[in-house]
Amino acid sequence: MIKKGPKRKRNKNIKTIVIIEIIILIILIMVFLFYKLRKGSTDSPANDDMNQSNNIDDAEDDGKSKLSKEELEALDQQKRLEKEEKDRQEFINQANKLKQSYDYDGAIDYIKTYQGEQGGYDRYKIFTDAIAEIEEEKAKLLLYGGSYDSVTQFNHIFFHSLIADNSKAFDGDYESVGYNMYMTTIYEFEKIINKMYLDGYVLVSMHDIAIKETAEDGSSKFVENKIYLPEGKKPFVLSVDDVSYYEYMTGDGFPTKLIIDDDGRVINEMISDDGSIIKGNFDVSPILDKFVEEHPDFSYKGAKGTLALTGYNGVLGYRTNDLESPKYEEEVKEAKKVAQALKDNGWEFASHGWGHRDSLKISDAEFIKDAQRWLDEVEHILGPTDLFIFPFGIEFERTIGTFTSAKYKFCKENGFDYFCGVEGKPWMQIQKDYVRMNRRPLDGQAMLQFPERLVDLFDVNEVIDPERPARDWD
Ligand SMILES: [Zn+2]
Repeated sequence: MIKKGPKRKRNKNIKTIVIIEIIILIILIMVFLFYKLRKGSTDSPANDDMNQSNNIDDAEDDGKSKLSKEELEALDQQKRLEKEEKDRQEFINQANKLKQSYDYDGAIDYIKTYQGEQGGYDRYKIFTDAIAEIEEEKAKLLLYGGSYDSVTQFNHIFFHSLIADNSKAFDGDYESVGYNMYMTTIYEFEKIINKMYLDGYVLVSMHDIAIKETAEDGSSKFVENKIYLPEGKKPFVLSVDDVSYYEYMTGDGFPTKLIIDDDGRVINEMISDDGSIIKGNFDVSPILDKFVEEHPDFSYKGAKGTLALTGYNGVLGYRTNDLESPKYEEEVKEAKKVAQALKDNGWEFASHGWGHRDSLKISDAEFIKDAQRWLDEVEHILGPTDLFIFPFGIEFERTIGTFTSAKYKFCKENGFDYFCGVEGKPWMQIQKDYVRMNRRPLDGQAMLQFPERLVDLFDVNEVIDPERPARDWD
């Protein structure tokens, strides 16, 4: 700033310099005041947040301009370190989420992907400590939580679409008795799920139970999978049948479809009395999604359940059955989006036959035609599946040996490996070529007619909806 003049003018120069410095000082003060005033005038409650962040930036800039190069570098370094520390905490949080859903190896592998300024994860105590802690927890795990000796003892429970409005479902009309027998209310579902959670039950996928093992010679067979859980946990499977929001259910207190909300969550749409649309969690999948969000330890590696779908009246509330409809393409497009969002969130799909036929009663040709129609009209919406859930729970063969029928062979050739019937108690068979698992209904009939069959799961009196009518069938 100071320019040296010739020696003989030294005194005059000093004077000039002092004057210039005073002028500069005055200018600086004015600039500062102007700046202050300008900022004050933009302050208003409406953009407080914005101003606050601007002020911080400004303050940082002001501070920076006074710092030396070295100090600036040190400040940048400090900021980088702070950001890295935050990143590491994020890594730990993410790993904890995986650990909470019993994915211990996933949590460790995730931590090991970290790369920081000092190098890999093993250069940071926070990570080596976290891994040691996870390993310690892992060492305490028991096969099937110590609750079962074999996967064949696991429960597989199932529901239909839940009754969201009891007064409409139980209004005494033609469908009321059917709803009382085969449906479960939201009240009951929430009670059941909460009770099972408190008792240590943990959702697993059908695919977690038995896996295809391929030998060196290329031959394969299904074998029990090993699931390790903390002591006292009890793996179980859940499925939901006929999530189609069939047209016959209109006006009976059920939602009309599944949709994706603004946050990407799959929720229900329901029509209220005045014709307006209400959005919310009115069926198994959105209610369970929310429950697992709040209780991640209710799900093994994010597993939810299986939705068993027919095709004759569309899927998930979309009328994808009318191939000639001008709305067909649009309905398929929307249904596909919802199906993908469900899969992304841990749900799986099963064929429930196209026309909900009795697989035992119908001829081989009829069964094959119906199963093929499902593959033609429904599979392209939901994606491929190896799960087959029998309509009415009636299997195509009565044998307790090995399936041999043409119906079975058709299914097997078309990629189906897991078959589910219905039975009051857990029952499962792991064959070389397929897996067969029975499911327990938790519906009105089970609660009102056979409550003693449910005692191992819950006391019916504690979960039954006080608004449910008494048994009104023989
Ligand atoms: Zn069904």
